[in-house]
Amino acid sequence: MTKIHNLGFPRLGENRELKFALERYWRGDIDHATLGSIAAGLRQRHWQLQANSGLDLIPVGDFSYYDQVLDTSIMLGAIPERFGSSIGLDTYFRMARGQASDGVPFRACEMTKWFDTNYHYLVPEVTPDQQFELSGSKIFDEARELQALGYQPKPVLLGPLTWLWLAKTASGFNKLDLLDRLLPVYGEILRRLAAQGVEWVQIDEPILVLDLPYAWRNAFERAYNRLQSCPVKLLLATYFGELGEHASLTCKLPVAGLHIDLVRAPEQLTAVLDNFANHKVLSLGLIDGRNIWRTDLKAALATVATVRERFKGELWLAPSCSLLHVPVDLERETDLDPAIKPWLAFARQKLTELEILRLAIEEPAAAETELAASATAIRTRRESGLIHNPAVQAGLAKLDGTLAQRQNPFPVRQAQQRAKLKLPSYPTTTIGSFPQTPEIRKTRHEFKQGQISEADYVRRMEHTIGFCVREQENLGLDVLVHGEAERNDMVEYFGEQLDGFLFTGYGWVQSYGSRCVKPPIIYGDVSRPAPMTVRWSHYAQSLTDKPMKGMLTGPVTLLNWSFVRDDQPRSTTAYQLALAIRDEVNDLERSGIPIIQIDEAAFREGLPPRQSRWQAYLDWAVRAFRICSSGVQDSTQIHTHMCYSEFNDIIAAIAELDADVITIETSRSNMELLDAFIDFNYPNEIGPGVYDIHSPNVPTTGDMVALLKIAGERVGSDKLWVNPDCGLKTRQWEDVRGSLANMAEAAKVLRAALG
Ligand code: GLN
Ligand code: ZN
Repeated sequence: MTKIHNLGFPRLGENRELKFALERYWRGDIDHATLGSIAAGLRQRHWQLQANSGLDLIPVGDFSYYDQVLDTSIMLGAIPERFGSSIGLDTYFRMARGQASDGVPFRACEMTKWFDTNYHYLVPEVTPDQQFELSGSKIFDEARELQALGYQPKPVLLGPLTWLWLAKTASGFNKLDLLDRLLPVYGEILRRLAAQGVEWVQIDEPILVLDLPYAWRNAFERAYNRLQSCPVKLLLATYFGELGEHASLTCKLPVAGLHIDLVRAPEQLTAVLDNFANHKVLSLGLIDGRNIWRTDLKAALATVATVRERFKGELWLAPSCSLLHVPVDLERETDLDPAIKPWLAFARQKLTELEILRLAIEEPAAAETELAASATAIRTRRESGLIHNPAVQAGLAKLDGTLAQRQNPFPVRQAQQRAKLKLPSYPTTTIGSFPQTPEIRKTRHEFKQGQISEADYVRRMEHTIGFCVREQENLGLDVLVHGEAERNDMVEYFGEQLDGFLFTGYGWVQSYGSRCVKPPIIYGDVSRPAPMTVRWSHYAQSLTDKPMKGMLTGPVTLLNWSFVRDDQPRSTTAYQLALAIRDEVNDLERSGIPIIQIDEAAFREGLPPRQSRWQAYLDWAVRAFRICSSGVQDSTQIHTHMCYSEFNDIIAAIAELDADVITIETSRSNMELLDAFIDFNYPNEIGPGVYDIHSPNVPTTGDMVALLKIAGERVGSDKLWVNPDCGLKTRQWEDVRGSLANMAEAAKVLRAALG
């Protein structure tokens, strides 16, 4: 008998109910009890929905008020000292966001990306003398809630090794030494769940898809040998990639079952089957938990058949990973193109697909109609004229080395750019956006709603641009920007103007806490029907003699922040995006814009979990960037901007982008993040951010001079640009004015020192 189960369900609700409840709670508009009952209502609804899809086992513990890693830290009693020892909701929100409902500020836990997803978790903190003890009762309570509804819960725990791996600790201390103190708490949790009547526990160890040091690999045997004595069955869940060299080790761990991701890593199946014993349960992740496409059920059934030839034990079917990373319900989308909608599946639809798969295995005749409908949707999508654009494909076919190569090497370009732009040393600029005032948002909103005419909209936007230009001239900045008032989001703005993109009405995905993003869907060949930014940049340039910098989002970031089509390699979609952006770059140049910045905020995010696959990604990502930046004259200056600053391990690729200028975030690390550039002897110009835009504090001229001196000593003052860490759209004009005035003054002080 084949069983179906789920690894986790989106928890905010199809209308983002939990988001709004949390925000009301934080504002003090509702109390703890009200928040609690909204949360309980959502859990029930989501369980019911999963039960209605015929799941044999329903996950519990995947619900969270903020983050499941934080929940785990609390459960283990790993609460950093500064938060005190109470484990109530106030402590929880202090750890999550630096503030509970009383408004007293705390230093929140650090937040970072969950593997290669766009979800962020709160980083656990451990000390060398860390003690653990079972705290709170969330997982037990939730299991009991579901049992009360008459269903079999499968509690989901983040495994001890993954939790420890993600934890932050003082350097010089081996956190793996804490494992022996941690395991008894896991043992206690498992025994309590068993006593409560739980049969299966899903224990997530996604680090098994990473490159692991030898000691960590060994620790898996040690840990699971110890947990073996607990009277529950453990389903060890791995996802986001391949077990690779850990396959044999993982298959032999003394657990009752193993889940593998066959969407991200179908090739691992052979190695798993080679090592897997028939007395265990094998759970196949066949439905894509990371993307929104309808599953090719025939292909999934073929995989099941392959497995069945060799594996005689109990088989479970599941999504590849938790469904946290996809929107809740496609039925909600009443405005989607009816030709495209049948190609899609959100969380709910994915569970239905699981149900059909099971039926097709157990009672093939009963599943015929459903399978036929699925096959039709898959075929229609593949053959649809909507996704294929012959002009785009002709463009791709012509891609050769020359398209990704500037006319001359950097030193030649630098000389030409210096002659043309005549900038002072330590040139000052900003990263693109200026404060998004309520008036700006209102104008965009009214235009979108059709309440104001296009002419009115353009007039108001031009007014804002004029204002930004005057402000920058008054501040004495050297390279100006138009301010990006017309954009609410750096991906959406471009996606809405490109062919091949689709936007949902309710396709929200949790990014962190109560924050959601609504990624666009790239469903077809991407092309640019008309210029996207030229009118604004051109207008801005017409107002000033200073050089105006055009602002674009790069192909890799557009790709990494969207749901991407799965019927061709990601690199192909990246090249299509690159060709579209290239046209925009060339049009900006033609319209008289001398400097063009191509933002690649998400460049690093696309790195695969395994280092052995990094180079392949970096090769095509770099190429995509170069395709869009290389169509211009040597005298046109290309900038790029990246917010994150861990460059050490990818600095060679960053250099290969060959942008004339790169601006990065460095102020909070006291320029230490420049180390990668120094060690590598990075050849082109650099703008290390001199102040943190996340804070409303106005930095002093002295602070910034000091930072620039450090930077100058490290990379050479002739290469330096002077700019903030990132865009200013979240700030207020008052602090922006003060900060930029001091920044411009800092540049003057340094120029004077040069003599
Ligand atoms: N140009 C964008 C801005 O200034 C860059 C934003 C980003 O890198 N996240 O807002
Ligand atoms: Zn940035």
